[in-house]
Amino acid sequence: MNSVLVFVEQRQGRIKQSSLEALSEGRRLAKKIGSTVSALVIGNQIDSLVNEISKFGPDFVILVQHNALANYSPDGYRDAFLEVVKQEQPKVILVAGTAMGKDIAPRIAAKIDAGLATDCLAIEITDDAIIATRPVFAGKVLQKLKITSSTKIATLKPNTFRTEEVSTKAPSIKKITPQIDPSKWRAVLRGIQEPEAKKQDVSEASVIVSGGRGMKGPEGYKILEDLATALGGTVGASRAAVDAGWRPHAEQVGQTGKIVSPNLYVACGISGAVQHQVGMANSKVIVAINKDPEAPIFKFADYGIVGDLFEVIPALTREVKKLYGKE
Ligand SMILES: Cc1cc2nc3c(=O)[nH]c(=O)nc-3n(C[C@H](O)[C@H](O)[C@H](O)COP(=O)(O)OP(=O)(O)OC[C@H]3O[C@@H](n4cnc5c(N)ncnc54)[C@H](O)[C@@H]3O)c2cc1C
Repeated sequence: MNSVLVFVEQRQGRIKQSSLEALSEGRRLAKKIGSTVSALVIGNQIDSLVNEISKFGPDFVILVQHNALANYSPDGYRDAFLEVVKQEQPKVILVAGTAMGKDIAPRIAAKIDAGLATDCLAIEITDDAIIATRPVFAGKVLQKLKITSSTKIATLKPNTFRTEEVSTKAPSIKKITPQIDPSKWRAVLRGIQEPEAKKQDVSEASVIVSGGRGMKGPEGYKILEDLATALGGTVGASRAAVDAGWRPHAEQVGQTGKIVSPNLYVACGISGAVQHQVGMANSKVIVAINKDPEAPIFKFADYGIVGDLFEVIPALTREVKKLYGKE
């Protein structure tokens, strides 16, 4: 077969935005080589997701359902995924580069001896290859990687590819009950611990107020939370702040954290190391607050405020509240 297969990730019945980006890219690639694009969803009781997925124009939606697959299992999802790969023999497999995507894609590649490009920023396709553009050396260099194995796999950097809703005919639905044996799984999920307070995910927020080592300690983040709340956004962090235990890893922006693309990113007490930059450079507007006028972040910020953040941020919060009539 000549098809493009896109893994559409869902957790607790919620589709990841980055999977829809992958699906839109899959559709663009399929169009270029005159093939079909299929959306693969694995889980349990996921029929209701078809409507949302259909908006992005797949020719087929393949639903693989089993009650043991309600939550992610590395072995279970791999076996279910492989069953579909065997049936469909896709030319290209696209997976969003989320935590789940980064875990499952190499497992599939290893099992079917496929070439794998991770963290892709762009994909070109020819009749017998894909050429993936991906960052190496902590984002300092972009590499073009050509994959020529019969099935080619790529994970796509979240918030990098455009989603595109299309009005095409409804997709055909294929339903599969996989032949899986949970008793053989080496790791089983026992439960999910939700964060204490329901908080917007930085990778999906439209306003992020991020703090780094310059916040001086966990208590410093109170002023960031106030500004984020006033702007209707959420708080992010640099790795220095996360490594110090001031903020949870879920908030970390950057190479080993999350890739974000908000409308507004306010970087407070963050120097702007390249590993941080690769996570937030796609933000529409970047505002930097830093007391060091030589801080690298000012080289790529749209607006810069040189000053002590403990004075600047509360003043900014007061002005934002006035602007929105909250004070
Ligand atoms: C493989 C690898 C992966 C990495 N992944 C990530 C990643 O995902 N995300 C990430 O962020 N980093 C990552 N890093 C770390 C990165 O290299 C930097 O060390 C880190 O980003 C620095 O964090 P920071 O900017 O908060 O701290 P610093 O570089 O120490 O900067 C603190 C800034 O705060 C300013 N400041 C201090 N006090 C004040 C004040 N009162 N008012 C205003 N400004 C003040 C200072 O002038 C300074 O610019 C990674 C590194 C490696 C090697």
